[in-house]
Amino acid sequence: MTKRDYYEILGVSRSASEQELKSAYRKLALKYHPDRNPGDKQAEEKFKEAAEAYGVLSDPEKRRLYDAYGHQGLSGAAAQGFNPEAFADFADIFGDFFGFGDLFGSSARRRNRPQRGEDTRFDLEIELQDAIFGKEVEIQVPRLETCPACQGSRAEAHDGWTTCSACHGRGETFYRQGFLTIRRTCPQCGGAGRILRRPCRQCQGEGVVRTTHKRKIQIPAGISSGDKLRVSGEGQPGLNGGPPGDLYVFIIVKPHPVFDRREYDLHCTVPLNVAQAALGTEINILTFEGVQSVKAPEGVQSGETLRLKGRGVPHLHGKGRGDIVVHLDVRIPRKLTREQRRLFEQLLETLPDESDPQEKSLLEKLKDYLV
Ligand SMILES: [Zn+2]
Ligand SMILES: [Zn+2]
Repeated sequence: MTKRDYYEILGVSRSASEQELKSAYRKLALKYHPDRNPGDKQAEEKFKEAAEAYGVLSDPEKRRLYDAYGHQGLSGAAAQGFNPEAFADFADIFGDFFGFGDLFGSSARRRNRPQRGEDTRFDLEIELQDAIFGKEVEIQVPRLETCPACQGSRAEAHDGWTTCSACHGRGETFYRQGFLTIRRTCPQCGGAGRILRRPCRQCQGEGVVRTTHKRKIQIPAGISSGDKLRVSGEGQPGLNGGPPGDLYVFIIVKPHPVFDRREYDLHCTVPLNVAQAALGTEINILTFEGVQSVKAPEGVQSGETLRLKGRGVPHLHGKGRGDIVVHLDVRIPRKLTREQRRLFEQLLETLPDESDPQEKSLLEKLKDYLV
């Protein structure tokens, strides 16, 4: 079973602040708390899941590791399911008023099964131009590798591990309360049944080392922000002989100073002066394929658009391209020279008064109503 994404569990974005995390967690924890959902296994799972997610994301260092390497990037207890440190955070938020005891079972028994490696997320920022024409880029993918010194055993070769004296290797302790026997995860070894006496010096007892590897990615023409590319088998390595996970490259297209992409069209705004708008003009647009010209006919209005057909973004799966849409912005001069003023005054005498007929038509409409 693949572990769910911590951000998804808490229902927050990857850029969530500490405060957002805290309040998201608080909401979930209150909703799924076992005291409120007695006997509901699913609620209990959700409760644990949220505690684990919060335990990791509220710790800046763990959050950094998680963002870069996913679940497997977290060492020791955090990587083995429930993180006892989240415990302390939990008490911190709610006050230490309930016992956790048996709630968090041992995961020791599950540890040696082959497990598929985790999927890795990689955020890749690209230029608009690369989204339009496609490009091959080389990325540095963070990856965990089995520690070469201890082969992943986490311990020094000689005398590295010792059996836990508290639980005698069982991972659980039992005690009697009245006529009940209560079982709980061994507090000394955290359920592992053994204690790491001499941690491997190279990996500090984590069993893995963090590396990066280069990978070439082909970005298809027409890709958009938010699209993801899956690279099979390039995620984290599997555990105990399991297959590796996949690499997901999330595409972020940087904003462009001139063009604003909407679907497959590229929009831009071009200013015209009042004479150009009235008389018509040829407009030159610097596109990604050099200068293209488009004709603005006589009498164009501010807000009208012109199109450069087929100069937009190619369709991702299929043929054809969108357009470049040119929005016209007719600018009226804020200051006039004496000569310009004279010419405008001349114009004023020949142009119809635009405000009059509007009023007339409004009156006509009102009349229609009254009749
Ligand atoms: Zn090691
Ligand atoms: Zn123990």
